[in-house]
Amino acid sequence: MTQIPPTLPMRALFDAQREASRREVDVPLATRADRVARVRDLIEQHGDRLAEAVQADFGVRSPELTEVADLFVLRAGLGQLQRQLPRWMRARRAPTPWYLWPARAQVMRQPLGVVGVIAPWNYPVQLSLGPAATALAAGNRVMLKPSEITPHTSALLAELVHGAFAAEEFCVVQGGVDIATEFSALPFDHLFFTGSTHVGRLVAQAAAANLTPTTLELGGKSPCVIDASADLADAATKIAHGKLLNAGQTCIAPDYVLLPRGREAEFERAYAQAVQRLFPTLVGNPDYAAIVSERYLARQQAMVDEARQAGARVVVLGDLPPEGQRQMPPMLVFDLPPATRLMRDEIFGPVLPVLTCNTPDEAVAHINAGPRPLALYWFGRDTTARDRVLKRTVSGGVSVNDTLMHVAHENLPFGGVGESGWGAYHGETGFLRFCHQKAVFTQSRLGLGHLFYPPYGDRWRRLMAWLRRWA
Ligand code: NAD
Repeated sequence: MTQIPPTLPMRALFDAQREASRREVDVPLATRADRVARVRDLIEQHGDRLAEAVQADFGVRSPELTEVADLFVLRAGLGQLQRQLPRWMRARRAPTPWYLWPARAQVMRQPLGVVGVIAPWNYPVQLSLGPAATALAAGNRVMLKPSEITPHTSALLAELVHGAFAAEEFCVVQGGVDIATEFSALPFDHLFFTGSTHVGRLVAQAAAANLTPTTLELGGKSPCVIDASADLADAATKIAHGKLLNAGQTCIAPDYVLLPRGREAEFERAYAQAVQRLFPTLVGNPDYAAIVSERYLARQQAMVDEARQAGARVVVLGDLPPEGQRQMPPMLVFDLPPATRLMRDEIFGPVLPVLTCNTPDEAVAHINAGPRPLALYWFGRDTTARDRVLKRTVSGGVSVNDTLMHVAHENLPFGGVGESGWGAYHGETGFLRFCHQKAVFTQSRLGLGHLFYPPYGDRWRRLMAWLRRWA
């Protein structure tokens, strides 16, 4: 096999991967395991460099934060792939209904071919290499388009991937919106997109022209429902952690809080104390990430200014950063009018609106009036109240009495629903996203299928009458 350079135009890279995927359809376990091991080596050997690149892209974001939120989660997923791959790739027997006896049936798990992965900037290592490694484990070829907002990380990912893989196996295409648009128009066998709902819509449209199936991991407004039975100090700490990890730039960050009316002052105090404990200082504290760019910081500030002008009360929990610095302090927003952007759009920053409800049913009605969220968080001890909310709302996932944690559980499918996306991944669910499940029916020499053939005479009628009673 001649190797092609990863610097070729993306269409040529795609054609080479497609040709290779059609040449090697039955990808052996050893090849797949070796590819996953190479991804793992890449983070084991270059994790520090990757964390430094992320830090350079964000301005402020400690390597420890990248270790826990990017690399640890990725490593856990790769470890599971390495352990489970032999079992996951095996064909599954399907029980045969009695009227088809003694035939046998199975479902083969085959590679799809060439998988495209488009990744965002917020956890740029995990959200690039996680889906890519899973697609490789399922026997596919992979083309990755990381985000242009984190150019140091994207360039390093390209360098590392191209050092460890032939471009026909796994390659990286870098660039902004023009390149991304061209990328999403390639006739992939599957296109896996993580990013905003707005761009997800464009990606789905581009993919539809090729009948390319997509997975869309999008965003949205994830609510925290605090029940009257909740320990408010504990809930506030966990909400502060989930909200302020990466300064709110997390797809499943709590977007807003639904609180029993009358407990605003208590929540404000508890949240302020939690912020103080987690981040004793803000400006210059590398554990508290900066907003990724001036444009995104200006967006946060514009949303807060609009809310203030509309009459909301904004509580700023820390110092404002000096000019040119992008560490935006945590904020609580009370009495927020419904028409404001903080109420309508995904916030994706450290600003937390607190809405109040008279009853738990009001909280459910509020959630059900909007697009279906990616995550929902419920806090309390009253299990009847908990079940009432969980059964009457639909969200991608849920953590009860915590935030974010469901994403770290490797056996839970992770994904959105409605406007927060479609198609879950992680664990075996993720592996199956990148497989074709091929149905195989094997007839027996003793099979009785010929009894159903025409001409449909008396014998056929008697047989069908008998079958109707049992089927
Ligand atoms: P984004 O949608 O702006 O960009 C994501 C990727 O899409 C980037 O690589 C970008 O280059 C590419 N892109 C941009 N325009 C495109 C186009 N027209 N066609 C094809 N691709 C295009 O998102 P972002 O700002 O990088 O990330 C933040 C968003 O991602 C938030 O909404 C967040 O909730 C969401 N997100 C979701 C998850 C999840 O797992 N559900 C995880 C992280 C982030």
